[in-house]
Amino acid sequence: MAYDPNNIFAKIIRGEAPAFKVYEDAHTIAFMDIMPQAEGHTLVIPKEYAESIFDLSPEAAASLIKATQKVAAAVRTATNAPGIMLAQLNGAAAGQTVFHIHFHIIPRAGGIDLSFHARKMADMEKLKALAAKIAAAVV
Ligand code: AMP
Repeated sequence: MAYDPNNIFAKIIRGEAPAFKVYEDAHTIAFMDIMPQAEGHTLVIPKEYAESIFDLSPEAAASLIKATQKVAAAVRTATNAPGIMLAQLNGAAAGQTVFHIHFHIIPRAGGIDLSFHARKMADMEKLKALAAKIAAAVV
């Protein structure tokens, strides 16, 4: 499938759609997932347009994993979660719903099940507050 430059993450990169950003550098952006599977669910995307891991340049892949490591540490600090899950889905058959590659950073704790994938909108005020807390924890 050809990359669709009108997907929602491409619009976030271009500043045409809003996002609760927690981190940005020359090559990546991280922001809150608006239908979180757990409190603190954050996404990290490359600015390079690529649908999946198979389309991404090695340079953008390196920047993406570096940013993911940095932001995951901030999510852990901000949420105090004992576990952090990383997920990255390639292709509809794998469950991908937005066709611009991204890593999910999902805080986990024993006894707390994950909410359904991309199902229920978060409270925007809570999301904004969480974004500020995570952004402040980025080192
Ligand atoms: P995937 O199914 O791996 O492609 O994940 C896409 C993720 O993007 C889901 O977890 C959605 O909840 C999330 N999502 C969709 N639209 C937005 C948006 N406008 N801002 C933030 N997250 C979004």
